[in-house]
Amino acid sequence: MMCPTCNSTQACKNGYRKGVQAYRCKRCRRQFLESYQKPRYSDATKQRCLELYFGGMGVKAIERATHIHHTTVLHWIRQVDLNALGLELLLEPKLVPNRSQSTEHPYLSSERWLRF
Ligand SMILES: [Zn+2]
Repeated sequence: MMCPTCNSTQACKNGYRKGVQAYRCKRCRRQFLESYQKPRYSDATKQRCLELYFGGMGVKAIERATHIHHTTVLHWIRQVDLNALGLELLLEPKLVPNRSQSTEHPYLSSERWLRF
């Protein structure tokens, strides 16, 4: 476990708090819970992934390039304002995929969504 305060990996288990594994850092003595360790990415990282995606990169390729799981990237893509995306499609109608070939939601079948 990595300490969220000093990033030391020298943390030992320290019992449970409300059913969640608790840890104590050996370096800074701070106690923390396992739930703090969920991956959290900066806005800059998120923005970079979205730029890659809308630049034509598939989420699996983004995962290989950034080591961020593709479901995380997809989650960010779904957060993007769809009205803004619709505007881009209107500006470049030739990039709209042929939806008759797929029953999947276009934002989810990103491997086919090669260009935006
Ligand atoms: Zn620490």
